[in-house]
Amino acid sequence: MNPTRVVIVGGGFGAVKFAETLRDQLRASECEILLFNSENHMVFHPLLADVAGASINVDAAAAPLRQMLPGVECRTERVQRIDLHSSEIAISESNGNLSHLHFDHVVIACGAESNLGIIPGMSEHAFAFKVMRDAIDLRQHIVQQMESAEAASDLDRRRWHLNFIIVGAGFSGTEVAGEVNELVRSSTRFYRNFREEDVVVTVVHSQDQILPEVVPALREFAKKKMEKAGVTVLLNTRAVAATHEGVELNDGRMLKGGTIVCTIGTAISPLVQNLDVPKERGRIRTTPEMRIEGQTNAWAVGDCAYIINAYDNKPSATTAQFAERQGRQAALNLVRILKGEPTQPFRFKALGQLCSIGGYQAVAELFGVHISGFPAWVMWRGVYLLKLPTWSRRIKVALDWAWDVLFPRDLSFLNTDTAQEVTHAYFRPGDFIHHQGDPARVFSVIVEGQVEVLQSDPVTSETKVLALLNKGDFFGEGALLGSRPHETSIRARTAVRLQQVGSALFAQFAGSFTPLGDLLLKAFARHSGDIWRRLPLVKPILEGESLGSLIDPLPSELLSTEAIYADAIKTLEQSPTGRLMVVDEKQHLWGTLDRDNINQILARIAVIPLETRGDVTQRKVTDFLVANPVYVTLQDSALVAFATMLDHGIGWLPVVKSNDDLQPVGSLRSEKIVNRLIEKMTQLQRGQAAVAS
Ligand SMILES: Cc1cc2nc3c(=O)[nH]c(=O)nc-3n(C[C@H](O)[C@H](O)[C@H](O)COP(=O)(O)OP(=O)(O)OC[C@H]3O[C@@H](n4cnc5c(N)ncnc54)[C@H](O)[C@@H]3O)c2cc1C
Repeated sequence: MNPTRVVIVGGGFGAVKFAETLRDQLRASECEILLFNSENHMVFHPLLADVAGASINVDAAAAPLRQMLPGVECRTERVQRIDLHSSEIAISESNGNLSHLHFDHVVIACGAESNLGIIPGMSEHAFAFKVMRDAIDLRQHIVQQMESAEAASDLDRRRWHLNFIIVGAGFSGTEVAGEVNELVRSSTRFYRNFREEDVVVTVVHSQDQILPEVVPALREFAKKKMEKAGVTVLLNTRAVAATHEGVELNDGRMLKGGTIVCTIGTAISPLVQNLDVPKERGRIRTTPEMRIEGQTNAWAVGDCAYIINAYDNKPSATTAQFAERQGRQAALNLVRILKGEPTQPFRFKALGQLCSIGGYQAVAELFGVHISGFPAWVMWRGVYLLKLPTWSRRIKVALDWAWDVLFPRDLSFLNTDTAQEVTHAYFRPGDFIHHQGDPARVFSVIVEGQVEVLQSDPVTSETKVLALLNKGDFFGEGALLGSRPHETSIRARTAVRLQQVGSALFAQFAGSFTPLGDLLLKAFARHSGDIWRRLPLVKPILEGESLGSLIDPLPSELLSTEAIYADAIKTLEQSPTGRLMVVDEKQHLWGTLDRDNINQILARIAVIPLETRGDVTQRKVTDFLVANPVYVTLQDSALVAFATMLDHGIGWLPVVKSNDDLQPVGSLRSEKIVNRLIEKMTQLQRGQAAVAS
């Protein structure tokens, strides 16, 4: 008889314990165990903060799965889909093809993912803290910040490099704050240009206590110890946005700092999201024995599962302790099923909690006993040492830890060339993205939002808006191509997300890809404001002209975002102006449709594969249009409107109430603006002629 094939998806605490227990219980001839994990190692999350703080080497917090699990077939592959009807998983091969594998039982133990999207700007500017890469990158970045602080001649800039902000004070936030603080403060003696007093480590926490998971006495101890070690703890405070400058708080303050670590926010893995099974707040609901509700051969354990603990009838905590126990007991239940025995519900009394707070200090609550300080720290490290897979590894890690207690932490780092990078950035309304005169470092493409191009008059120092740029527009090319400082400032008008290409990478692209180089040069000619220098009379006239008298009334036909393609084209054909505005359910401007769009829409349809195209005429028109069109507000001048049209090569623009209220109020045509210009210039010339005579 063929052995039962058990496929385990994930390689964390739950999955490893499941595989280990099953291998101990069943022979290879009875059961074939395949474990699929995106990485080839298991991560000991509680030790990640130590990796970031350079107090342990990376290998102490990651254990290779194939060495941990002899007798289990470990595959470093991401499972793309699980089909519970056909009992198959889909995995993508190195050539990009999907391959399918049948299972007799599947165990879903793929944990949770970090989700920085919950606070604007976090995904662009903060470090997540979930996987090994996060800890390694953070460690590199911290050392880099100290090197930059040492080299900075500007005092404010040096302070910015030495400010570290940690968002969230649960286990991971507290541990990472303690470790970052210890690493930076203990390293200041190796630098000449800053001292310990210059270092600021701040924890921002929305509740009135840190470490909500432990008892109040230990929380208080942890907070006092951390504050004594120099960590500032801001309680009852929320981070509302992150930018390149730092973190904006709910009380309006801006905490400036070059390092932001966001330890809050988790997301359900896409694999679980796509699974059509009962869920509770995104987690998979299981029966007490841990089979997925409604399934006979599918199990779920760990952070991705919603499992009621029979010990207290409460949902299990999403911690390593629970994931391990669930993994073990689910495996035993599977063995019982294979042997025709009754299963047992998940029942577990938590053993306690351990949390390191930096500086060889920890808090612990074990079997109801509370321990804090150095003994708790020794116990904390001891517990994780015993969890490592082999004795050779335990001895190696123990020696590393002893070394760390006796000698300073390692301050070497690999210098990555930011000029070769593609990065993301977030700016709040009113934030400057760069100032006129700043050196050019990046080429920026607007992913979301609207920016103003500003230029200040060298004589009067008065700053004026030259044009507006929107989603899909770009800037920074002129200064990079000409190797000179920026000639204009760029300011975010709304919240703005950018994709930014480092100068060296940009030069490679623009230099070797001629059509792009040509396009950039043309765009630069428009962006630079050069046109106004050559038309000195035009600029003041248009600047003084408000939009009110130039606006055409709102057309009677507005398209809804729900409109289908066939209806939209019919409406366009019947429209007297040939220009339509698309509004969302709040009646806010979503997009525009005019005759010029028809060719682009056809090109967009042509790239959709035939097999997935379906009946295009019945699809929503918004599938083919670009959201966030170029627009101006009632408060803008005719100069801004005209420059924006020139910049985008378009002949009309929607006008909305204001930046806060995107309700369309009318539209502007370029010919109307030019006509007004001619009238004003004629008046001016007549006036001058009258004075002369
Ligand atoms: C910084 C930090 C500190 C923590 N400290 C503690 C602590 O002190 N004590 C404690 O008890 N708990 C702690 N936790 C929580 C604990 O780590 C988790 O509860 C535990 O890891 C959950 O185990 P799991 O098996 O469900 O998932 P995980 O350990 O997260 O493992 C899931 C694995 O599945 C893989 N995976 C995901 N999707 C797929 C896919 N489609 N295909 C293949 N593989 C996939 C992932 O790459 C990952 O390796 C901490 C967590 C963090 C982030």
